[in-house]
Amino acid sequence: MTAGEPTDRDLDALARALHDGGVDLLVGTALDFAGVTRSKGVPVRRLPSFATSGMGASPSWVVFCADNGIAFTDGIGVAGDLRLRIDPDRVRPIGDGMAWGPTGYHEQSGERSALCARGRLIDLEERVGAAGLSALMGAELEFTLVAADGAALEQTSWAAYGMRSVVARREFLADLTRTLEEAHVGTEQIHAEYGTDQFEVSLAPLPPVEMADTAVLARILIGLVAARHGLAPSFSPLTFAGGSGNGMHLHLSLARDGRNLFGTGDGPHGIAPEGGSAIGGVLDGLSELLAIYAGSIVSSLRLKPGSWSGAAVCWGLENREAALRFLAATPGNPHGANLELKIVDPSANLYLAATAFLGSALSGIERSLPLPEEVEGDPAETEDFARLRLDAEPSAALDRLASSALAAALFSPAIVAGAVAVRRHELDVFAGSSPDEITGALRLAWS
Ligand code: GLU
Ligand code: MG
Repeated sequence: MTAGEPTDRDLDALARALHDGGVDLLVGTALDFAGVTRSKGVPVRRLPSFATSGMGASPSWVVFCADNGIAFTDGIGVAGDLRLRIDPDRVRPIGDGMAWGPTGYHEQSGERSALCARGRLIDLEERVGAAGLSALMGAELEFTLVAADGAALEQTSWAAYGMRSVVARREFLADLTRTLEEAHVGTEQIHAEYGTDQFEVSLAPLPPVEMADTAVLARILIGLVAARHGLAPSFSPLTFAGGSGNGMHLHLSLARDGRNLFGTGDGPHGIAPEGGSAIGGVLDGLSELLAIYAGSIVSSLRLKPGSWSGAAVCWGLENREAALRFLAATPGNPHGANLELKIVDPSANLYLAATAFLGSALSGIERSLPLPEEVEGDPAETEDFARLRLDAEPSAALDRLASSALAAALFSPAIVAGAVAVRRHELDVFAGSSPDEITGALRLAWS
């Protein structure tokens, strides 16, 4: 152990305090490459073992698929064992006799595994710090409420962003607000979204790894609260064919020496040269990383122009049809200037998606890319649309990811191979299926 790491005695004390507070079951979670939250639990007294030696998990855990198939790769088979270690600093009670914490994959020898998505984001956050930069990220969690078995709820008279939609689901929303507050996830807003029975919880900005951990927790809590009300949240990119999509928009701000790169420069809207390069890097990497941001077979059904999902490879001030919406530093924006990547959806592994977003921004800065031209208004209405339009065809997106040098550098060849394999599996399983069949089969896959 190095200085600052918790001792066995600290861990025992934490376990006892949790137990005294009514916790029996300690659950650790890890996201597979298909974006599904997998978990292992222990009686809370075993927290010290969970945090140090870890609990066993087959390497194939990372290539479990949205339909619970397993997409073995050349490097990931049935043999071997990894250890899931819970991060004791992030453990917190979540009610109903449970506590939760995020885990990372380690080798038996104790080193972090090259397959650990959370570990890649930890490494990147360190690299960003070593470059003299600091990053904050935030997540917006959209979901559609359905019955516990995935059926559509009895028709409420839905008003997009409407008060009567809130009234219709008030018990759920009040319970959710209380539960999220008690867990200190940093809820910024809760509102009824555009689609029927669709809601959004947006979370305050945090350092990248903490942001991803917190968003994972918030999703778990949304599921727990919904279950208390006999409901379930669908975190599928498209809950019902023909309905509204669910995004998981990610925000990013970057600062050097305390100066926000997107708000304290001389460029348009206050963008500093490095901020312009970051925007250039994100857009430059977007097509090859699309299968990380929105790679499921359902994702391709959501990414349509006109749906505010950002299906155009461009940026623009407050532009909701651009993949990258720019939010300027104004008195109305307390978090300061930042980028919102709208194409990300909740089928993504959030650790990989955050690594892709932040890593491609850093790559743009390292290469001093110029700020691309801004797109004002709807990209679909511009003469340039043929060039800006996102190619969301899933098989082509997987080919681009498989051959991406940026992805290989940001993740590891083993992670890229696994991430491609889980999505190819979806394409194989659902070949010839209709949007109704696909959305029906995967409606609760990411819940
Ligand atoms: N539901 C939209 C999506 O699929 C986003 C709507 C919004 O801008 O909040 O991303
Ligand atoms: Mg929204």
